[in-house]
Amino acid sequence: MATKSKFQAIKGTRDLLPPETALWNHVEQTAREVFATYGFGEIRLPIFEPTELFARSIGTDTDVVSKEMYTFATGYDSDSVDESVPGRTVTLRPEATASICRAYIENNMQQLPHPVKLYCIGPMFRRERPQKGRYRQFYQIDAEILGGPDAPAIDAEVVEMLMTFFDKVGLQGTTLYINSVGHSAPNCRRGYVELLRAELQKVRDKLGPDSQRRIETNPLRVLDSKVESEQPYIEKLPHIADHLCEDCAANYAAVKRELELRGVIYEENWRLVRGLDYYTRTTFEITAAGLGSQNAVCGGGRYDGLIELLGGPPTKATGFAIGEDRLILSLQESANSQSPTIGYQSLSVYIAWMGDKAYATAVRAAKDLRNAGFSVELPPVAQKFGKALGQADKLGAKYALILGEDEVAEGTWTLKTLADGTQTKLPEPALIEHLRKQL
Ligand code: AMP
Repeated sequence: MATKSKFQAIKGTRDLLPPETALWNHVEQTAREVFATYGFGEIRLPIFEPTELFARSIGTDTDVVSKEMYTFATGYDSDSVDESVPGRTVTLRPEATASICRAYIENNMQQLPHPVKLYCIGPMFRRERPQKGRYRQFYQIDAEILGGPDAPAIDAEVVEMLMTFFDKVGLQGTTLYINSVGHSAPNCRRGYVELLRAELQKVRDKLGPDSQRRIETNPLRVLDSKVESEQPYIEKLPHIADHLCEDCAANYAAVKRELELRGVIYEENWRLVRGLDYYTRTTFEITAAGLGSQNAVCGGGRYDGLIELLGGPPTKATGFAIGEDRLILSLQESANSQSPTIGYQSLSVYIAWMGDKAYATAVRAAKDLRNAGFSVELPPVAQKFGKALGQADKLGAKYALILGEDEVAEGTWTLKTLADGTQTKLPEPALIEHLRKQL
């Protein structure tokens, strides 16, 4: 009977258990392999950072910064002598891009051959309303290309890599949406934002409180709105593609050509502005099947101004963040998904040993078999033969290795195939070779 635990995981967090974790490992391993073929190296980052890092980079009028961050009122530099900045706080990272940019600057990566290609896998934290596909601790697979020339080929290559990865893990029903949000101020985006603001003012009373507030703070974010009653008004707003400066328009056209050259299929979505403020020019998002309303599995784009904003040299940059939880959900829910136990080391051999003499042999056999790469279960206490076989069945073992006093004395062991009950007698040295051929 299930017992109720005195403690439960905090709302919006959850345990990931085997065998599902095997799928997570498989997905992460595939990402590592695919990203390595594109020249990416792994970066491991702190889980918490100075709060200002996120406030500066993500933008204070984003939901992430204004209401979703886990922030602790503990001075992160309290061990330094500089007491002049009161109330400094640390925040659990809500995303990885800002930290990667900080690390790029802090570790002088501008001296490395460019572009610098980094990826990172790990948990992120946002105090969101939990629902299917939305958690307070969730996982991202993040990749960023920092520095290098102003080349649309870089945007296209990073998207190609992403779609190759999705293909390799067997993600179904993907759609890649792209858009360009132009240059950030003082270039073409500013003109568009002013136009948008003016148009939004005209329909102000038709909009809800969030969108009304954003007319002043960040009109682009209104395009993100999912509020049903606002949609007819939003659909009539001007498109940024018609207001890009010459450079940005040429850049957007070149990115599309580069995607076509790589056989990457995309759809344009003029409302794709993404939730975070730091994006410039190309933005993209990928949706997948089986996810309901939270169907975005990846968001990304260019953010040319961010490193400079954080105190580094002017640096081109582009990247993406895959929502790993949603990717896994989609894989599990799509009919053609690969087995959730993929990569899971299922039990090969259960050692049914009986008697003290057999025990020493069983310990040696278990060690040898495990060294040879087989998954082995060695019961830690003596048990009756029938019970041992029953246990082997329950655990889904393929074979039971029977080691009684007779077998040990003769040096000939019995291997029982559990699926059909057949038995083979084998001298000890032949066992590993025999199993290798069978499994
Ligand atoms: P963002 O960092 O907001 O651009 O998000 C990138 C991707 O991370 C999204 O497309 C989602 O797949 C995933 N994601 C963002 N927030 C959450 C969350 N609270 N729970 C699960 N996945 C998330």
